[in-house]
Amino acid sequence: MFETLPALSPDPILGLSAAFKLDNNPKKIDLGVGVYKDEHGNTPILKAVSQAQAVLQERESSKVYITPQGHQGYIDGMLNLLLGEGSSVLKDKRVAAVQAPGGCGALRILAELLVRVNKDTVVWVSDPTWANHMPLLGDAGLTLKTYPYFDKDSASIKFDEMMDCLKGVKKGDVVLLHGCCHNPTGADLTNEQWDALAALAVKNGFLPFVDVAYQGFGDGLEEDAYGLRLLAESVDELVVAASCSKNFGLYRERVGLAAILTKDEKTASIAQSQIQSVARGIYSMPPSYGGALVDIILADEALRNVWQTEVAEMRDRMITLRKLLVDNLVNQGVDKDFSFVNQQKGMFSFLCIAPEQVQHLRQEHSVYFVDSSRVNIAGISLANVEVLAKAIADTLK
Ligand code: PMP
Repeated sequence: MFETLPALSPDPILGLSAAFKLDNNPKKIDLGVGVYKDEHGNTPILKAVSQAQAVLQERESSKVYITPQGHQGYIDGMLNLLLGEGSSVLKDKRVAAVQAPGGCGALRILAELLVRVNKDTVVWVSDPTWANHMPLLGDAGLTLKTYPYFDKDSASIKFDEMMDCLKGVKKGDVVLLHGCCHNPTGADLTNEQWDALAALAVKNGFLPFVDVAYQGFGDGLEEDAYGLRLLAESVDELVVAASCSKNFGLYRERVGLAAILTKDEKTASIAQSQIQSVARGIYSMPPSYGGALVDIILADEALRNVWQTEVAEMRDRMITLRKLLVDNLVNQGVDKDFSFVNQQKGMFSFLCIAPEQVQHLRQEHSVYFVDSSRVNIAGISLANVEVLAKAIADTLK
């Protein structure tokens, strides 16, 4: 039977990793796959996570299934982190949530739920958006459309065009927003732009769907939640997918959160039953381990402080690397103004160079990143930044 299926080409990012491994150039640089890396190119287990693992080792006495919604401590801790301790939504119990297998799992469960509400639901995604949004939402049956977001020529957000497009979005349509650290561009809305967007959501009645995969990697854990919290306090209904892959470094443990903010407590309990039923139809119970670790970290003041310090270290390192890259490009006499890289947030930047230039960097200088010109800032290091700037300078000349 299966021979009737067409063979699909490998994912471009995974293909890039394979090519990087085969490259013998000792000065090769990998700015492809989106994982945080330290100065030595490693992605170590966070100290807070190691300490939580020791606690869990002592505490866990069974491997019996956890509840369908996941660890309640994890869910409550995450909701506080996302929505803020003083959230009126939490006070009014207007929220349904489950622990999900990663941010991807959360996106998929929520997509399935939106299809249950209305199989013809249209989701508007930014142009560009994270490539996986398409299969995660589209394969569930949602119709995807794009709104203008980023202009490569000026390396900035096309906010007016974005708003003009969203003004025409129908009530009941869904608008997917990146809570912070937009993937792939690194270009985030300002607080004033979030204010205007939230006002439009209230006026037009579209459903905001906020994907939060990098909280703490932009300006800070609280600062990065500005848009999400504003929307949560402004609109009646909101959908949130969150991931602990990056800010807790728990990638392979697959830990995320799917949440629905509803107009009242009664609707929240309906949504809770539906979201659990969706999850039951896909994988039944969530994996326990990663959520248990995050629960331990968030509930213990000392451990939470260790974690917050580590998040700040990752964030500060990426901010420093952005600056170093821009300074080194200036030192190399590059004409193009790359100062926009310093304004962008989180782990990614679009360098806004042409695909042929990206390929030149790969072929002539062993610098690997995807053709869109998205680079993983965390793949830069004090040791390779000058080599990288020279390679870019050579490519642009
Ligand atoms: N959303 C965005 C925008 C992402 O970049 C990612 C991770 N790359 C995710 C969601 C989900 O991540 P995960 O499933 O690894 O938690």
